[in-house]
Amino acid sequence: MAVSGLRFLIGTVFKVPATTEHASRAYSTSHVFAEVLELPKRQLTKLVFPLQELQRHLAPDMKLNLHLRVFDPSLEDIAKADDLFTATARHRIEYLSSAVRLDHAPDLLRPEVCFIGRSNVGKSSLIKALFSLSPEVEVRISKKPGHTKKMNFFKVGKYFTMVDMPGYGYRAPEDFVDMVEAYLKERRNLMRTFLLVDSVVGITKTDTIAIEMCEEFALPYVMVLTKIDKSSKGYLLKQVLEIQKFVDTKTQGCFPQLFPVSTVTYAGIHLLRCFIANITGNLKANDSRFN
Ligand code: GDP
Repeated sequence: MAVSGLRFLIGTVFKVPATTEHASRAYSTSHVFAEVLELPKRQLTKLVFPLQELQRHLAPDMKLNLHLRVFDPSLEDIAKADDLFTATARHRIEYLSSAVRLDHAPDLLRPEVCFIGRSNVGKSSLIKALFSLSPEVEVRISKKPGHTKKMNFFKVGKYFTMVDMPGYGYRAPEDFVDMVEAYLKERRNLMRTFLLVDSVVGITKTDTIAIEMCEEFALPYVMVLTKIDKSSKGYLLKQVLEIQKFVDTKTQGCFPQLFPVSTVTYAGIHLLRCFIANITGNLKANDSRFN
């Protein structure tokens, strides 16, 4: 798409009718994404759909293996989602509470999404990046050895909550596994679990424990590949193809499309925000295209 085409899209973003509170916020704050739209096409594609850029390096028969655009929002939807992640006086995005047990978790009727992954996978960095449009959101991190690890709840206005689950690892105490397991099994408003895998390392034994948990409870989950800026294109492609093969052949509940992200370049962050906005029911205008 030529830059003039992008300018047209910026126009459509700003023409979103202000019929609801959300639409009116979109009208006033989507300048953030409008700046992104100003990028040359190749840079824009790389930022929003990092795998699409990589796919160019694959042989034609291999391209089919990557489910690149199962979730294929318009740039306008991506702008709307960015807007949903931008706090205003009437749309508060904030840390809500922490809990060590499920019965201490806030009892919420709003849709919820959670983030799980082994320690050091890049989970805190990802949650900070998702909230980067609202820098006043305090992403609490409790990593000191011996400190109780907690589930941290964040509310995104009246629309949904995001939960940062404690990181797991070989030395994770059993009560932590119990906490995650109980949450995944019983949390009724949980719409989607985001399972983070380090793209440099690939799927580890520890990751497979979490994958097995999601599979056992028949949860819909999504694999997010972190730290994609750290590898060469060739290495990243190899890792992505391996992980994609795992998802295609060994999982039932995992969304076929992988979500690669970097919190250094912000690649994939806009798309992930948009996916979250969609599965929590906040992109109503275009829902039919995603069903
Ligand atoms: P957590 O333990 O899962 O919360 O992991 P952190 O978010 O603390 O990240 C672990 C380490 O990986 C830190 O040194 C981060 O700076 C680094 N990191 C996280 N995300 C990225 C990324 O996208 N790119 C790069 N290069 N480093 C990252």
